[in-house]
Amino acid sequence: MRKLAAGNWKMNGTSADIPQLEALANDHHAASVDVVICGPATLLTRMAATGLSVGGEDCHPAPSGAHTGDISAPMLADAGATHVITGHSERRTDHGETDADVTAKTTAGWAANLHVILCIGETEAQYRAGDTLDVLTTQMDGSIPDAATAQNTTIAYEPVWAIGTGLTPTPQEIADVHAALRAYLTDRFGDEGAQMRLLYGGSVKASNAADIFALDNVDGALVGGASLKAADFSPIVTALE
Ligand code: PEP
Repeated sequence: MRKLAAGNWKMNGTSADIPQLEALANDHHAASVDVVICGPATLLTRMAATGLSVGGEDCHPAPSGAHTGDISAPMLADAGATHVITGHSERRTDHGETDADVTAKTTAGWAANLHVILCIGETEAQYRAGDTLDVLTTQMDGSIPDAATAQNTTIAYEPVWAIGTGLTPTPQEIADVHAALRAYLTDRFGDEGAQMRLLYGGSVKASNAADIFALDNVDGALVGGASLKAADFSPIVTALE
């Protein structure tokens, strides 16, 4: 499985941002790693037209229906998406999404042939209490469907306290958590779990990317703030190559 540099634009992005995505697509069209930008549904078609791989930031578990304001996985695919994020901590917090919701959304993403980037992560209080691995295990038990494979799923470890804060765990802490996640995945999914990509996310930027990517079991990154500008994201892609 190739490494993955994934951006998450969150509630950002208008048509004025398309030219810099074109530049990003041009700079990395022959990249030896996968590059995906997950963006707002309003922009996906135009983002996909740049030639970059694009993804949704969330999807509804149902393919269609009376759910005002929601976007389904088939609608994302129709707009040109090849990926979708599920379980982002901002969805878990802002929208009260549970592990069961994440399971349903992940299954819906697969049904629309989307590769799912499934996020897990502990809060600051849980980190301080030393509960990180227990929390992550509970989230993986509850939110990763049994049919997950290396082909259809990437797991993103995103400590909630590191998202958008400029704080990161130490490299040793990231390495220890990723080793434990790999052990879990291999134990539960066998070879598929051994091959499943494990991203780190949380305040990744050009200045820390190389150190993080050098760690065992770090197969790429999910990047929020530093994915908004091609000039910030491009060196992160290069660091992963
Ligand atoms: C994210 O939103 O997934 C994220 C990791 O954000 P940031 O890179 O800004 O911390």
